[in-house]
Amino acid sequence: MHIPRPQNLYALFASTRSLPGIGSRIGAIMDKRIGPHLIDLLRHLPVSLIDRRASPRLADITESMTASFEVVVTAANIPPPRTSRPARITVETDDGSIQLIYFHARADYLKQILPVGERRLISGRIELFQGQIQMPHPDYVLAPDKRDQMPDIEPVYPLSAGLKARLLRKAIEASCHKVPILDEWISKELIARFSWPDFRTALVSVHHPQHPDELSPHSPARARLAYDELLANQIALRLLRRRSDDQTQGRAIQSSGTLKTSLINNLSFPLTMAQRRVMDEISTDMQSPVRMLRLLQGDVGAGKTVVALGAMLDACEAGYQSALLVPTEVLAKQHHASLNKMLAPLGLTAELLTGGMRSAERQEILSRLATAETQIIVGTHALLSEDVEFASLGLAVVDEQHRFGVRQRLVLGQKGGGCDVLVMTATPIPRTLAMTAYGDLTVSILDEKPANRLEITTALVSQDRVDDIIGRLKTALDAGQRAYWICPLVEETETSDVTTAEDRHRLLSTILPQANPSLAHGQMKPAEREEAMASFASGTSQLLVATTVIEVGVDVPEASIIIIEHAERFGLAQLHQLRGRVGRGDIASSCILLYRGPLTQTAEARLKIMRQTNDGFIIAEEDLRQRGPGEVLGQRQSGMPEFVLADLNEHADLLASAQHQADQIMSDNPDLAGEQGQHIRTLLSLFERDVAVQFLGSG
Ligand code: ADP
Ligand code: MG
Repeated sequence: MHIPRPQNLYALFASTRSLPGIGSRIGAIMDKRIGPHLIDLLRHLPVSLIDRRASPRLADITESMTASFEVVVTAANIPPPRTSRPARITVETDDGSIQLIYFHARADYLKQILPVGERRLISGRIELFQGQIQMPHPDYVLAPDKRDQMPDIEPVYPLSAGLKARLLRKAIEASCHKVPILDEWISKELIARFSWPDFRTALVSVHHPQHPDELSPHSPARARLAYDELLANQIALRLLRRRSDDQTQGRAIQSSGTLKTSLINNLSFPLTMAQRRVMDEISTDMQSPVRMLRLLQGDVGAGKTVVALGAMLDACEAGYQSALLVPTEVLAKQHHASLNKMLAPLGLTAELLTGGMRSAERQEILSRLATAETQIIVGTHALLSEDVEFASLGLAVVDEQHRFGVRQRLVLGQKGGGCDVLVMTATPIPRTLAMTAYGDLTVSILDEKPANRLEITTALVSQDRVDDIIGRLKTALDAGQRAYWICPLVEETETSDVTTAEDRHRLLSTILPQANPSLAHGQMKPAEREEAMASFASGTSQLLVATTVIEVGVDVPEASIIIIEHAERFGLAQLHQLRGRVGRGDIASSCILLYRGPLTQTAEARLKIMRQTNDGFIIAEEDLRQRGPGEVLGQRQSGMPEFVLADLNEHADLLASAQHQADQIMSDNPDLAGEQGQHIRTLLSLFERDVAVQFLGSG
């Protein structure tokens, strides 16, 4: 079949480096923070706007307002270099004077932009200081004939560390000029019902808000784009489901369950009822000839690993290989070790494949996989590389699903020629959303924790009392307990998470030398980090100072205290994950959330919910409720597919319409043929690129 390519999308998939003023350094930051293409930039929506039209009389001016004036520069007080005093430039309006304040500005630069005696147009935020009107670092200083260089109203984008606001604005403005006119893919009824603008108008206008109302997720332009994203997602899910249905023939994994039974008999604990039930669900599913695509949802510490291992042993007994895919190297090693501990009594072993391996070692592992000598393997993304071939992959288990996307599921599934897939997530997804988000998966839920678990006590403590906390920590460590100290997320580029962690580690090592604090962060050599974790796991070190590298899966049952600094900077899901590092053994555990005020309302609500409940499902619901537009933190942590334009809290009704239209398209035009099919292909290329590439050969 001839597949027509959506021709005019190329401009949107140009690199951000093709924009004026974006070189390789800024481009690299953009790749990381926003995405590599113009379309990614265009999906980065403003959170507020600055209206520069106010030019009040000075008597009417108020603190923090943004205002613009035409002025005459009357005096410049510029201190010599390397003094801490700021430069003060006095300017006169029609009815008084304003001080422009500059910290660390070069004298020649100031003299050039604000020559005494000249007229200038200035715009910026006003501060009132001891009765004086000041404008620190004006946003604009222009010659009066350059007025057109200053927009009346300017969008404000969520800050991305390392990207200056003005640069981002210019880049997005330039991208707006590249948006092509595209044929409509939304049904005529919907467009008419909501008076939605066309795609191009919508995408351009969201970047040119003229009124705060236009920032609402329900403004016609934003709602339309949200719908586009949801519709693309719903169609993609349906295509995936169909593909996996195609591949279901003849893969029944039959086993008598002997290995699994002996695993269970050799455990040091009884399984929970929930674990037994879910193991049965999985084995029924694996034995049927229909391909298994199952989501195993279970709160932190619910005991998902042993359930997965049971399924892997079933595959093994039936003569199939199985693979466990995890998001980080640390986690891969840990899972590898804990699986091998459980496998040892059965006389079996699991292999490990990570990106950091020497190539000789890697080659050996690959050849053992290709010859089926290896039956169970644990690994990171390295497992997805092209040269990894399995002799007979029967089951792929994906742990901590929220770190992987649809694409990884596709790749692994294809390696196994349509093998069974079990996806495990520790970030609980509210039931109502699980089906929409993972429409192509069946869901099993581990809704019971092992009986020996004690509640974790959570306390909120102001950062001012950190000395107190260190004192109490000392008492606990002296009594033989083990603790995590989690260093804050850092918002700006000057200091990094790593420097904070290193500083903290140095400080705590001085105060608590007998605890032998160890340090783990993402930029250490894996071997060093491994050593730090190992010494904490063995008790040689009683205190592990760490960044969020330990967020996922780290399992040291003896750890009973976790202290999280600047807890207000973390999202709810992440706090819950972190707290889940304690309370894994039979010791009463505690979690201290250190915060620095003043707290925003949402931050306060987040911390309170953490204190009120340990239930991951309640926390997930609350997380969903709280994450509004503009709350940058936490947006990518909720385990949802990464909707950028749509917000499931706000656009639930649109989701229903998108599901409806997607069903209709898939039944009327399953091959996406003809003109209408072409429009849908364009939509998919824009919003579900991986799926478009895999299914439609376009991109
Ligand atoms: P998660 O669901 O967060 O991945 P794990 O599988 O890592 O949880 O299990 C957490 C800890 O609980 C592990 O140390 C595991 O050995 C233990 N565990 C699992 N199931 C049980 C059980 N039924 N009773 C007691 N401990 C259990
Ligand atoms: Mg786990």
